[in-house]
Amino acid sequence: MVHFVGAGPGAVDLITIRGQHLIREADVIIYAGSLVNKELLGSAKEGCEIYDSARLSLPEVMDIIKAAEAAGKMTVRLHTGDPSIYGAIREQMDELEKADIEYDVTPGVSSFCGAAAALNLEYTLPGISQSLIITRMAGRTPVPERESVRELSKHGSTMVFFLSAGDIPGLVKELLASGRENNTPCAIVYKATWPEEKSFVCTLETLEKTARDAGITRTALIIVGDVVDPKSYERSKLYDPSFTTGYRKGTRTDG
Ligand code: SAH
Repeated sequence: MVHFVGAGPGAVDLITIRGQHLIREADVIIYAGSLVNKELLGSAKEGCEIYDSARLSLPEVMDIIKAAEAAGKMTVRLHTGDPSIYGAIREQMDELEKADIEYDVTPGVSSFCGAAAALNLEYTLPGISQSLIITRMAGRTPVPERESVRELSKHGSTMVFFLSAGDIPGLVKELLASGRENNTPCAIVYKATWPEEKSFVCTLETLEKTARDAGITRTALIIVGDVVDPKSYERSKLYDPSFTTGYRKGTRTDG
């Protein structure tokens, strides 16, 4: 059996309890070495075989898993954050299905949640934005044209950019071209939840300099939108004293 496990954004105590148990029980662990906190491997059992997938191709990962299966061993495939976001898990699942190997997924805290925590930020503020667009700049992996930053940004929704800290000038250019103002609030969060976490709130105009001055070119998320520095917003209906909900009678009598 193979368990895909989300390792969380970095801090060792941000993996789920289920994920932690699976690491303790694993005979084989294949972890994404570039971003997974290696301290998590400290709870692996004695004799557990541990591989860093940063050095492996997909067929090599599959060979390790198939050998483990043949020996009746349990494998944990440890991905950073949550495996469903830029985790390249679909291709692994398809190979496992071809080989008739059972698998399941244990979710993890994605880094975009870690970044919000670092900034004390709510992505979905009433009156500002009720949507969060998770996306990236095209890199070696292309992005479909209909999902270009220029197109997506036209919605004015809150946006969080993964895998884009290496091309901030390109990102800023696209956001401006879509009609966002120079003074649009932005944030950059480097290594959210790690001890070396750094976060900066700035604007579209100062984003490039902020990242450059801090020496940030990777392992960072960029957040764009008024929720980063809200001038005003509407309070939630859920906690409005006058509002009746399924759980609470409000003071307002006209419905
Ligand atoms: N599955 C992961 C994302 C993997 S893609 C998740 O759910 O978080 C790798 C990208 O994620 C990095 O280039 C960076 O943009 C972002 N990232 C991962 N961990 C991060 C962290 N602790 N702080 C900031 N960005 C992070």
